[in-house]
Amino acid sequence: MVIPVEKPFFGNPSDLQSESQPSRILIVDDDAPLRRALPQLLAQDGRSFDACASVAEAVAQLSTTQYDLILLDYRLPDGTGLAVLDWLASRQREEAVIMISGEDAIDAAIGALRRGADDFVRKPYHVAQLQRAVQGALHKTSLERANREMSQQLRASERLHRYLVESSPDLIFTLDADGMFSYLNPRVEDLLGVERDRLLNRPFLSVVMPEDVERAQRFLRTPEKAGGGTFNAELRLRRPLEAGSGHVTVALKGIPMLGRGIAEGQGRYAGLYGVARDISERKRAEEIIAFQAYHDQLTRLPNRVLFKDRLELAIAQAQRRNGSLAVMFVDVDRFKLVNDSYGHATGDLLLRGIAHRLTSALRRGDTLARLGGDEFTVLLPEIDDLADAEIAARKVLAALDTPFALEHGEHRVTASIGISVFPRHGTNAETLTQHADIAMYQVKRSGKNGFRLFDPELSGHQCARIKLEHDLRRALERSEFELYFQPQVSLAQRRVVGMEALLRWNHPTNGLVGPDIFIPIAEEMGLIGDVSLWVMDRACAQLAEWRRDGLVDLTVSLNLSTHDFERGDIVASVRDCLQRHGVPPNRLELEITESMMIQDATRVAQKVQQLREVGVGIAIDDFGTGYSALAYLQKFPVSTLKIDRSFVRDIDGPTTNPVICAIAGIARGFGLQLVAEGVERPEQAETLKALGCDVMQGFHYSRPAPAAAISAWMARPPHGLLN
Ligand code: C2E
Ligand code: CA
Ligand code: CA
Repeated sequence: MVIPVEKPFFGNPSDLQSESQPSRILIVDDDAPLRRALPQLLAQDGRSFDACASVAEAVAQLSTTQYDLILLDYRLPDGTGLAVLDWLASRQREEAVIMISGEDAIDAAIGALRRGADDFVRKPYHVAQLQRAVQGALHKTSLERANREMSQQLRASERLHRYLVESSPDLIFTLDADGMFSYLNPRVEDLLGVERDRLLNRPFLSVVMPEDVERAQRFLRTPEKAGGGTFNAELRLRRPLEAGSGHVTVALKGIPMLGRGIAEGQGRYAGLYGVARDISERKRAEEIIAFQAYHDQLTRLPNRVLFKDRLELAIAQAQRRNGSLAVMFVDVDRFKLVNDSYGHATGDLLLRGIAHRLTSALRRGDTLARLGGDEFTVLLPEIDDLADAEIAARKVLAALDTPFALEHGEHRVTASIGISVFPRHGTNAETLTQHADIAMYQVKRSGKNGFRLFDPELSGHQCARIKLEHDLRRALERSEFELYFQPQVSLAQRRVVGMEALLRWNHPTNGLVGPDIFIPIAEEMGLIGDVSLWVMDRACAQLAEWRRDGLVDLTVSLNLSTHDFERGDIVASVRDCLQRHGVPPNRLELEITESMMIQDATRVAQKVQQLREVGVGIAIDDFGTGYSALAYLQKFPVSTLKIDRSFVRDIDGPTTNPVICAIAGIARGFGLQLVAEGVERPEQAETLKALGCDVMQGFHYSRPAPAAAISAWMARPPHGLLN
């Protein structure tokens, strides 16, 4: 193989002519005076001379020493100069020879030149004539020497390149103009599993996977157009049958070979050089990453992203053919229970089993995806009418009929399914999925285990409400709740004495939702018990943290709802929570409203009594807005009254305010603490203070904020606020 050497690395050609290189000259002549005279006549920088007088002496001398030039007399005492020439030729010596002879016989000259002499000078000669001949012969020798070195270097360079090519970890090959392999490096043997000789003169296309042949042909055609530039392609090469099946993916780089000269745009296309790197590993890694981005790890089903993609595609197709499609939202009933009672490993196992059953209930063209948790969606891309979707839903429910065998025994699974149909229930992916979700939630609400089509008659308001309920149910699981805190400031003590915990909901799409909106819904749905437990846990955890930071006199208040007193054992829950977080009971205060006290007075009063015995404080929230019957205050051993925001808002100037005056009197009479809510302006604080209220809560001091922000506020309260 010939490898182009881009830039020759031998020296400047003009160096070759320079005579400064040392040259050794041997004079062979039996004429002693001439032997002495010639060195002087031919003397020049760098030239050195030896002399001898016979064939035998010349041979002896040449056996030990190399010369650049020999001035050889034809007639010598023991033979002719031709004998010396023969000796030189037999040893492949490279000395230049100028034959000098008195013979005027032209035959002698021709004989000498034929046997390897470089020049012939006839005696008698002119000195200048000899000098020219010597000059010429030396010049020729030095050219020859340079030429020899050049080819030596070329050979060395070719050896190096060959070594590099042969031991390259990449596959390197050349193709002839017909696309046949004309060279392959040994790498092919482990890459494709065939001996390289077996591929020589066989078409390159024979090792290309059928799917890629067309692309490879393009790759082979490009060089003619490319006019010398390199080009790249990614191809799959197949291992020939005898090497077992399979393929390797390679990144191919090609350089066209041109017939004459590699100059750009010149010459005829004569094949190409190719370098192919095995990128199968990288390809596999890329495929895995791509798979992970679009699939659920646990079930290996498509994920939300891929589902949306497929749904959008299916909508576009349905639009084109004026057809319909359906989206099913499948939610496993009471799945959380499995996780809670048997652990996540069992939960995961069950989810995989469910995924498997659902897949088997669907048709090949349908897409089953897992959105997360126990939620699955199904795309039925081609349905003729609503009945088709219902049939599919029935099949899905039937697939879950047989109980699942779990470690702990048989487990029965049911699901709630909501269905929406394009174009009737929506024309884009988002609406269709959302409407299927709402329909699913309606199934849940009316007893689970069934399916339902989206009801287009639902008003926007109903839809929003159902959706909110639905989202609220997920909020706890998805940690969308956050606890805010609002400081309560004692004017007399000039410090923060308490914090009210106020709940917020970070809705994934609607943003921050206030408790006035979602607490009543949570109460209606029976979710409030879990919400209150969460609030209590977070509030005590935060209090414990503040206590570790040295704020040991701080009290945290939290709001309870009627339902907390009706269901579950609030007393035990409170006691557990305090213990779990190592918080002393007197640092916790529970806020209840007057309406709670009148509903089931005795029951509530009992629990309040027990809570007081545990040691926690009880505050009556929004005091003065309900039925503030003084009798209740005797019955309920509360510790604090909170003056409702509406009375504080009505304060106007430092005039006596009869309601606040009365509440302050009641607090004093019963020995209760008093907290004013909704203090927004300094004058309100002044008046409240004059009326005997010391602890203030309101925007004037701080708005409710996340714990971190409140901690920062406490570290640096606004200047003058606590003075
Ligand atoms: P609330 O217990 O009367 O809480 C005081 C409300 O007044 C809070 O509204 C607070 O942000 C607001 N507020 C505080 N200072 C001022 C002020 O200077 N001016 C004005 N205009 N408002 C002020 P928020 O946080 O929206 O809470 C509303 C209600 O939701 C609460 O009224 C409470 O009844 C209920 N709630 C809040 N968190 C919880 C909770 O964790 N559980 C239960 N069951 N109910 C909660
Ligand atoms: Ca409150
Ligand atoms: Ca209040």
